[in-house]
Amino acid sequence: MTTIGILGAGQLGRMLALAGYPLGYRFRVLDPASDSPARLLADHLAFDYADKFALEQFASGLDVITYEFENVPVEATRYLEQSLAVYPPSIALEKAQDRFIEKSFFCEVGISIPKFTTDFTNIKIEIGFPAVLKTRRMGYDGKGQAVIRSETDLNNELKNRNTDELILEEFISFDRELSIIGVRNQAGAMRFYPLVENHHRDGILRMSLVRESITSEMQSQAEEYCATAMSALRYVGVLVIEFFEQDGRLLANEMAPRVHNSGHWTIEGAVTSQFENHLRAVSDAPLGRTDPLGACAMVNLVGSLPDVKSILKIDGAHLHLYDKTSRPNRKIGHVTFVEKDVETLQRKLDSLKEIVDV
Ligand code: AMP
Repeated sequence: MTTIGILGAGQLGRMLALAGYPLGYRFRVLDPASDSPARLLADHLAFDYADKFALEQFASGLDVITYEFENVPVEATRYLEQSLAVYPPSIALEKAQDRFIEKSFFCEVGISIPKFTTDFTNIKIEIGFPAVLKTRRMGYDGKGQAVIRSETDLNNELKNRNTDELILEEFISFDRELSIIGVRNQAGAMRFYPLVENHHRDGILRMSLVRESITSEMQSQAEEYCATAMSALRYVGVLVIEFFEQDGRLLANEMAPRVHNSGHWTIEGAVTSQFENHLRAVSDAPLGRTDPLGACAMVNLVGSLPDVKSILKIDGAHLHLYDKTSRPNRKIGHVTFVEKDVETLQRKLDSLKEIVDV
């Protein structure tokens, strides 16, 4: 019996456990929150990630360790790595936790990205306006971000902030946002899901769509970028890269060394889900097929819970609830449709939009 330890016990940990039971896996999760979504699906230790005694208790008897959010302290994974395999490797966490290090890595391996700088003395020449100011660390769902339209804007924004913690990048008037999910196992085999189109509102992902409009050139480019990043990091597990598409070109925005919200559609919509493939990868098993099973869409339930029965009344709706209490801007569940064609899919989405604020 394989027992997998997961750092973090949010909805991603919950969906990992749900994907792992059919394979006969068991799970232990470490998460300081006593009400975390994965707590009922795994042996739950509610301690802080910095607690070395808790880390040892957590690791005892496990076969392998993974994590489900990218702000796990690197000290914790480095500590655990001394006695047990931790996948994805800590180096991937380190790169993903700091936007400057992440973008420098993308440049090093030849992945196209928007222009960026941490030198705030010569912005007009280097980047130009508009530009986007972001925190280097801990910024997610657009938190700590500001669009800068002029030098005055920039000076105002920098007045009360520590420039050491910030990064400025070129504003991209993108045509759309896309993401690729790749997976690499211990033997170095790789698989990729189709690029999905992501729709955000207030910085939060609302909907992901598997689109026919993705050209094979774009898919190949995204796969090549993802493969390059995974090989460079000797990566094991699922890696996601988010892109801006501009005039048919892909510019990487960021990567996540974990399973990702834009891959939730794969639970019902792909031959093997991202969650199962992540578990296969970290447990040294062959990877599963990634082809989609139809026209797919995933819609997040954000904030408060809509009428569940009305959602279930829509023929073909797959509802997932994360056992979380309602709170503004909190992801509490999602709905997936897998349909035979885009017209049918659109009809289902129209019905859902009457109930859910997409
Ligand atoms: P991030 O926290 O980097 O994922 O950014 C959150 C959202 O802000 C992205 O999904 C985009 O919609 C938008 N955004 C981020 N960076 C840029 C950029 N350089 N140009 C235009 N929009 C951006």
